Formats: sequence, C-alpha cells, structure tokens
Amino acid sequence: MSSCFKLIKKDGEARRGELTTVHGTVQTPLFMNVGTVAAIKGGVSSEDLENIGCQVELSNTYHLHVRTGDELIKRFGGLHKFMDWHKPILTDSGGFQVFSLASMRKIKEEGVTFRSHIDGHKIFMGPEESMRIQSNLGSTIAMAFDECPPAKAEREYVLPSVQRTERWLARCKAEMDRLNSLEDTINIDQLLFGINQGAVYNDIRIDNAKRISELDLPGYAIGGLAVGETHEEMYDVIAHTAPFLPSDKPRYLMGVGTPANILEAVERGIDMFDCVYPSRNGRHGHLYTHFGKININNAKYAEDDRPIEEGCGCPACRRYSRAYIRHLHKSGEMLGLRLCVLHNLYFYNHLMEEIRQSIDEDRFASFKKELLDNMNSSVE
Ligand SMILES: [Zn+2]
Repeated sequence: MSSCFKLIKKDGEARRGELTTVHGTVQTPLFMNVGTVAAIKGGVSSEDLENIGCQVELSNTYHLHVRTGDELIKRFGGLHKFMDWHKPILTDSGGFQVFSLASMRKIKEEGVTFRSHIDGHKIFMGPEESMRIQSNLGSTIAMAFDECPPAKAEREYVLPSVQRTERWLARCKAEMDRLNSLEDTINIDQLLFGINQGAVYNDIRIDNAKRISELDLPGYAIGGLAVGETHEEMYDVIAHTAPFLPSDKPRYLMGVGTPANILEAVERGIDMFDCVYPSRNGRHGHLYTHFGKININNAKYAEDDRPIEEGCGCPACRRYSRAYIRHLHKSGEMLGLRLCVLHNLYFYNHLMEEIRQSIDEDRFASFKKELLDNMNSSVE
C-alpha cells in the first residue's frame, strides 16, 4: 500500500493535496458526505451526490453489517455497484458505533463482544472482523478498528486503551494485506487508514502518532474528537498532533464539524472531514449560508421569493423559493426535507472548493477571517 497522496502546496499549515485511488482522484481539503446505510438520510440518491459536488461518500460498517449484511453486498459486487456510486467510498471501522450504540459491550484483547442495537443478537468484532467486513463492502478506504475513549476519560483509562488500539492497528494491517492478496476480494487496492487516539492528552496523542506513523499506512486520521471536549481543547489537540503525522499522507479529522471547526482544522493542517451536521440540520430546516444559518420554518420566510442563498448553485436554490421550501416543510412533504439536505451538502462541498481555491491563491487566512465574520453576523 504505497502512498497515493500528493501534497501540492501549503499556505501556512493549510494544505492543498490530491488523493489518487482506484476509484479516481479527489482534491483536498475535502468533505465526505455521510451515507450511514449507503444512503444519505433525506432521500439523497447517488445521482444527487454527483449534482452537489460530492467527492467521497462515507458509509458505516457497523450499520451495514447488522442490517442487510456485508456478505449480501459482496454478492452484489460491493458497495460501489450496490449503490451505483463510482467515486471513492470511505467506510468507518464500526468501532465508534460499537462503543456508542451497542449495549452489553465487553472489551478484550481479541476484540469486542456486544449486542446489536437492531435485534439484540450477540456479535463479536475485532480488527480482523472489521477488516473482513470492510473488504466485503469493497470500499476505497477502510478505517482501522479502534476504541474511541470518551473525551473526559481519565489518563489511567486512556493510555492502556490507546496501546491496545495500536496493537489492533498492526493486526488490521496484517489482515488487510492478507485480504488484498485473495483472488475473490472486490477491491484489492483497498487503502487502510490508521487512527490516532488519546482523548485530550497531547503527550499520549503525540506518542501514538509517532508509533502509528512507523507503519507507513496510506493515510491517518485523528479520532476521538468532537465527543464532548470544548472547541478550544479540540483545536489544541489538532495543533499538537498533526505535526507528528506524516506530512506526505492525508490527514482526516473524524466526525468534525461546523464550518468554523473545518476552517480552524484546515488552518492546522487537516485534509479530510466528515460530519452529519449538514444532513441532520437540513432535515430540521436549518440551512447554512455564507451569512450564517437560517431556520426556514420562521414566519418571516412565508412570502420570501428569494432562494435559500442568492448565487448558490444547488438543486434547491437553482429553482425554488424560501417560501415554497418553507411551505413544503410546514406541510410535512418529504421534498422540503430533501431540498434542505441537498442545499446543506452542496454548501459544505462548495465551502471545501472555496477553501482549496484560497489555498491555491495563498489567501486562506483572509478567506477564513472574512467567512467567519460574515457567518457570525447571522441572518436570523
Ligand atoms: Zn442552495
């Protein structure tokens, strides 16, 4: 698994890069659109993803494993064929859901035993199982199986947990190498990303970053953030940890975040993001614009004939007024929810495009400041 990341240029610590995979080349910094069960909640199709500028789709290993099953998806030729999406797909390892959703967890060196949140049946998942499931799904990028300790966990808990996750990472790598050498493997070029953990303890994070870097994986993530710590703590961890991850590999900040979080993280050297905020907020009618968030349910939009945001190229803004979308929302029509989700996802993907352009033109800092000032002015 050689590196397929090209660092094109830097503006301060902000990075412009290009990630080449068997499913095509994508430009970084980028946002991955979260399709939990191989679909983004809100009635968003693979065709829609193409229309909103999505570069990478993200699906959840745990959810697909417990419902429908990765073996069935493998029989369909993998996720790309199953959902008819042919650009890169990243699958998470299932670890985060095992630790946040499943009940009756028992963690051992071998892995974790837990009960499905769907029907309560007992499941065992360790590094090898996670790699096999992700190999069945045939994603472009597979994430290592890790434990994500709570943000407020004590050092005494975090340190042994991180050390076990390191041992799990070596097992993930060995298993993926084996799977990628098998004849019936769907994607023999599947890439494994390692995950840095360590809660808010910078020394544990840095030690871990150094050790996992030695495995020379195609990419690295910073995990276990945006799980209850303050924004300042999160930015501090990123600033301290990112420099100890290889500069010639992509860096992915898992599960983050707001547009402001993304701007701050790009400034500290992060290349890849994913978050459910745009789709979740869209479903509630909370819409992102360059001038802050608007709540389409507000009475003042009842007769507003403007699009959600002037100049936005998304499928909702190209055609429909705030008044119409508000009417759909108020009437409980699914189309209202769908249009709002499409707008928000387009906003995030387009924001990344603007970020990339500002780095290309050596003006990331001024772009960031202006956008944050405008977004804080809030139109509500
Ligand atoms: Zn729009």
